[in-house]
Amino acid sequence: MALDSFNAFLSRTNGIGTLDLVKKGNLYDITDSEANSFYDEIVVPKLNQLKGLIYYSDIIRSIISGRYEAMAGNFRSAEENNRFIIERGCLSEFVEGTNKKYDEALKDMDWHNMVDRGYIISSFAEAMRRIRTLDPRVKELDSKSIFLAGKAVCKEHLEFPFYSITIKAFGGLKKVRCRCGNEADYLTLAMPKVSALIELASFITNANPNSLYSVYSNLSRVVHPYGFTDFPKGKSYALWLRDLNLILSSILNLHGVSKVNP
Ligand SMILES: [Zn+2]
Repeated sequence: MALDSFNAFLSRTNGIGTLDLVKKGNLYDITDSEANSFYDEIVVPKLNQLKGLIYYSDIIRSIISGRYEAMAGNFRSAEENNRFIIERGCLSEFVEGTNKKYDEALKDMDWHNMVDRGYIISSFAEAMRRIRTLDPRVKELDSKSIFLAGKAVCKEHLEFPFYSITIKAFGGLKKVRCRCGNEADYLTLAMPKVSALIELASFITNANPNSLYSVYSNLSRVVHPYGFTDFPKGKSYALWLRDLNLILSSILNLHGVSKVNP
């Protein structure tokens, strides 16, 4: 019965942003016993379907941490964990669909150095523009074509050889110059910002990025500027759980699970 009324809350609030819900204040107030049973009913089955994701363990840890914070009424920390789950879910699909070197850039902690040196994909549109400028024939992202969204450098300015491919490896590319003006010899991978990552992952898996994108921007505003560090506990948990449910459903959709197993 209780789950029915929570499900009604989920339906009633479907498509409404987290911030609008907080502002209206008409939130479900979950009891301690409901909190545990709803978690088992709503979260656990979805998690079981996500076990193959590269960053599954990061997702699990963020859920455990988010749950603890939500129960304590620290809504900001709870939602920060949810936001990280969006990032890790999309990154899983992106790495799987493009190049494992992105995973090495994380593990070897090269990612931030590359960002600091300007190897960045700021938006999906930017990535596609770079790719299609170099090779208008490219229709899909894969381990090779993702380099086309990277940065062109000459031999002298090659900074990250491990993350680079020779331009010759492509054949038939338009000529491109390094920042020094010389003809470029290599393409080095660029690291996507999270907003770009959401769209890139959705493009790879042929999913609609809108819901993840809008949850992500709502949660970013919970973290900054609003904070909400002292939120009523039952409501904090209910809203965190609602957002988590939406995020996990979207990641499942991205992962293609819902298409196989509705
Ligand atoms: Zn150069």
